[in-house]
Amino acid sequence: MLGRRYFLDPTDLQFKRVRVHWKDKLVRVSLFFAISVGFTILYSSLFNSMFGSPKEKVLNQQIESLRLRYSLLGRTIDRSDKMLAGLESSDGNIYRPILDMDSIPASIRRMGTGGVKKYEEYEGFHNSFMMISFARKVDEIRNRTNVQEESFRAILERKDEWIREMEHLPMISPVNVIYRLGDGVKFREVHPVLGTPQWHHGQDICAPYGTEVYATGSGRVIRAGWDGGFGNCIVIDHGYGYQSTYGHLSHIKISEGMDVKRGDLIGLTGSSGTSSGPHLHYQIDLFGKFKNPLYYFNNDLTEAEYFEMIKALTAQAKYR
Ligand SMILES: [Zn+2]
Repeated sequence: MLGRRYFLDPTDLQFKRVRVHWKDKLVRVSLFFAISVGFTILYSSLFNSMFGSPKEKVLNQQIESLRLRYSLLGRTIDRSDKMLAGLESSDGNIYRPILDMDSIPASIRRMGTGGVKKYEEYEGFHNSFMMISFARKVDEIRNRTNVQEESFRAILERKDEWIREMEHLPMISPVNVIYRLGDGVKFREVHPVLGTPQWHHGQDICAPYGTEVYATGSGRVIRAGWDGGFGNCIVIDHGYGYQSTYGHLSHIKISEGMDVKRGDLIGLTGSSGTSSGPHLHYQIDLFGKFKNPLYYFNNDLTEAEYFEMIKALTAQAKYR
């Protein structure tokens, strides 16, 4: 009975069942289905626009996660950049100058690793600019790291040679105590003994007769004996173009051909040769050209000696 409908037939006053044609039924069912589907779509789109679809939620979470990872990556890149810059600074300002090596031009350190097309795969995304900038920075850091690695390898190779060179260069005072500096490198209008004008190519160090004289750097003794105006004289060849000369000695304690180390006792001061009194004539030549020995003394002076050296250096500056 339920769902059935009746109507009053005026012709015979009887209630009669309403018969619905199957076509009408089909139309009604179709209409009902269409309206239901319409409402479902409307509701669903309204819900999605307000709260997002489950798929969008997952995607949004993934985007947030990626954003966080990019942020962390950015910080790591910055940290790496700063650390690398510190190493490059030490390389350029400390290691290479000390080891007498040329610095690496910035153009080589910052050399590009590819053209614009290299980052094509990152284009067309919402965050393309950020991704390309990160990729470019990572490439730059990788390139700079390679350059720095090569540089450290070269520095390590140079270090052993540098240590050997440092042992050989004449870089200390030849006597333990400088009592008074005599004439330095300069043109003497009147030689104290000869009375004639001539160049003085070394530094005279006034010290009592018999003061110990030391090799100022490691090397081979190429002369040990009488040498005219220098009297008893020693010449040491240090290699790297350097020779040191010790003149007017009273005693010579080594012989030609011997290898000496820096600080070895080689003789005693005196006044042999053309000399007006006990002193050491100390001379440094580099590739046959005399140098001012005062510029080669290295942290082995007392304060008073140091200031006397400075005074002498100032006075002789014009003869450098
Ligand atoms: Zn002299």
